[in-house]
Amino acid sequence: MTPKDRTKSDHHLGLSTLQDISTLILQSHDLDETISNIVNLVAQRAQSDVCSLYFLESDQQTLTLRATYGLDQAAIGQVSLKIGEGLTGKVAKEQQILAIEEPQNHPDYRFFAATGEEHFHTFVGIPLFDHSQTIGVMVIQTRETHIFSEDELATLTTIAFQVASIVVNARLLDAIDSYELPKAETSALEIDAKATDPQKNDVLRGQTAYPGVVSGPANIIDQQFGFADVFDEDNIETSTELKRLDDALRKTRIQTLYLEKRVADKLTQEDAAIFHTHLMILEDRGFIERLHELIEEKHSAPYALKKVISGYLEAFGQMEDPYLRERAADMEDIGRRLLANLVGKNSEGLHLNHSGVLVAKRLLPSDMAILDHDMILGIVIESNEANSHSVIMAKTLGIPALIGVKGAVSKIKPDANLILDANSGCVYQNPDQTIFDEYSRLEQERLQEQDRLSKLRDIPAITRNGQRIHLRANIGLVSDVEVARRNGAEGVGLYRTEFLYMARSNFPDREDQYQLYKKVVEDFSGAPVTIRTLDIGGDKTLPYFTQPKEDNPFMGWRSVRVSLDNLDFFQTQIEAILMAAQHGSIRLLFPMISNMEEIRTCKKIVRDAMQNLQDHQIPFAQDVPLGAMIEVPAAVRLAPHLAKEVDFFALGTNDLIQYLLAADRSNPRVQDYYDPLHPAVLLSLDCLAQVASKNNVELCICGEMATDPACLLALIGLGIHEFSLSAPYIPKLKHLINRIDTVAAEKLLQQLILEPDSSTIRKHLAQTIENLPVTNLSGVSDYSRTTSKSP
Ligand code: PEP
Ligand code: MG
Repeated sequence: MTPKDRTKSDHHLGLSTLQDISTLILQSHDLDETISNIVNLVAQRAQSDVCSLYFLESDQQTLTLRATYGLDQAAIGQVSLKIGEGLTGKVAKEQQILAIEEPQNHPDYRFFAATGEEHFHTFVGIPLFDHSQTIGVMVIQTRETHIFSEDELATLTTIAFQVASIVVNARLLDAIDSYELPKAETSALEIDAKATDPQKNDVLRGQTAYPGVVSGPANIIDQQFGFADVFDEDNIETSTELKRLDDALRKTRIQTLYLEKRVADKLTQEDAAIFHTHLMILEDRGFIERLHELIEEKHSAPYALKKVISGYLEAFGQMEDPYLRERAADMEDIGRRLLANLVGKNSEGLHLNHSGVLVAKRLLPSDMAILDHDMILGIVIESNEANSHSVIMAKTLGIPALIGVKGAVSKIKPDANLILDANSGCVYQNPDQTIFDEYSRLEQERLQEQDRLSKLRDIPAITRNGQRIHLRANIGLVSDVEVARRNGAEGVGLYRTEFLYMARSNFPDREDQYQLYKKVVEDFSGAPVTIRTLDIGGDKTLPYFTQPKEDNPFMGWRSVRVSLDNLDFFQTQIEAILMAAQHGSIRLLFPMISNMEEIRTCKKIVRDAMQNLQDHQIPFAQDVPLGAMIEVPAAVRLAPHLAKEVDFFALGTNDLIQYLLAADRSNPRVQDYYDPLHPAVLLSLDCLAQVASKNNVELCICGEMATDPACLLALIGLGIHEFSLSAPYIPKLKHLINRIDTVAAEKLLQQLILEPDSSTIRKHLAQTIENLPVTNLSGVSDYSRTTSKSP
């Protein structure tokens, strides 16, 4: 393929394909037709000879060809292979994209004659996922060698994501269509409604879905428009009931579209996807036919609905596949909303009058979408569906939640006072005075602490003699952002992106990363966010990335060394960071630099990344400051040279101390050797601080060392004024900083770095802290009012 063709193909397999596929999916009512359209479209736009979709069967072992462009259509539904079998099976097993030339030379290659397959020169397999579970594989094959560009692979991955969402729908609809209406007289919904336990029980137990302790009145959500009140009626006019059903279906579909949008806006697109599934069910021929049949048998529309929904619930409840079993909640949700529209009541009636702990049999995705999240202090639910979409949403919102709390709705009285301890899995109803006192004490302490800290939150960190100190946060997960802001962090000094990678089942793509980094920087409205490139190895591994077994992993293939050997994901990450930098003040940091060549190569990759973005007319920021982590002793010695290459230094004391003192940072046996106040550590830090100041390079400490007050005093004494640390320490350290005088601290350190042992150093620092003046919480030092000059 010539470069010209390449551009053409890049252009073809781009945004417009994604948009066309979205449209196809949105209009899809028939799965086979939709996937057949998708494979045709992708094959055409990717200029490939084959595009096939294999879906995983319910045995979780077998992949079956479900749609193909380019292979024999007769093979659809006939060709199956096991997970791990052939290249397609390998993709499913390893959950990784496989893009290779001359596939027949690959040791895992298998030839499937039934597909009419010829020999192809390129094979690309992309796994289809649903919440980290493989559900199928998309395969592209070309007769002529075609090297797929990164952009093409990224687009194919996005297409695979979209296809995955319709596969999930397909499984659900298949399951719906294959169930038999129950013969039993008592429906699952009626059984549910009768399941009350009169026995008084004041401590209920369940499993933690999201930890935390909260207390407040119970907010019981008992289905007000539930099926328990629906009975069969006489004198049914079939045509009236059919029309009634039609109207209600239309109304419910519109409401569902609205819910999908609302959840996508408030939470994530992934959370919203479930409402698309609901929409498909509401349009499913099988579902509607069943309702029609019952109405034609002279049942009212609500009664027909009750029968059909309870049939589904029963059938789902018996399914072996846990995913499908949990989807019963979705059927109940759909049924309830449809019923509300049938009987002319609005399910928007579901609202909370006061804040409290939500108690429900089962929380449905639409409940979470409709309810005012600020009113939900905690969640107690009877169902035990850790992966249900509502529980996933509760976690996204950080609401303490207990699941599997048997009989909660019947045992908990309306407006009872509850203590929800989602750390230990208990919920107390109108607890005993002793329990109440104990939790009140904890609550009191928490509030006092919160109050004290909130006073400190907005106080700038300024020393007694007016030196501004910057306290930023170390973050890993997006949820840390809220904690950081709550504690008054001035931006992020270290964003450990490996956690983002660890939380995924595959390398996050550029768009995924870009959206996340963008969100973080926007949340800090203007404050700087330093994003560190992937720092795996040592004690951090990725489930989907094989790292060699090493005797000394901390001295081995870790951090930037791994990135430099995997330029594809390295450049992707850098591109995402550069793109996000348009939305705020982002700085790009390279970890574990130990020689000049590394930092120069990193800078070259930044240039390559910029070029690639420019070539594809993707907007990005040109002026992102670049930094090196100084965490290897060699980098301290090289600092004068490194200072010429970068805009800032981030000092990683966690690693620097372990490498300087040959004491593993995570080995409790050598904990005493791991001494941040060891003179060798202080001398190294002093040397670095001087180089940074002489070369006008910013220096930020981002190891844990600064969280220890004695160390913080020592670091300020070495002339360091920027720190990044776990955010909850920030308010307390501000209080200390308000009491420090930098001139005195610097004088003290000039003497202390000459001391040969750390015990003397620590003793002097402790004494100095003890003698610091007491301040009030306004940040104004009482001492400074009387002595305006430094002592
Ligand atoms: C450090 O080494 O001090 C550092 C901040 O990085 P990490 O703890 O992530 O290795
Ligand atoms: Mg480190």
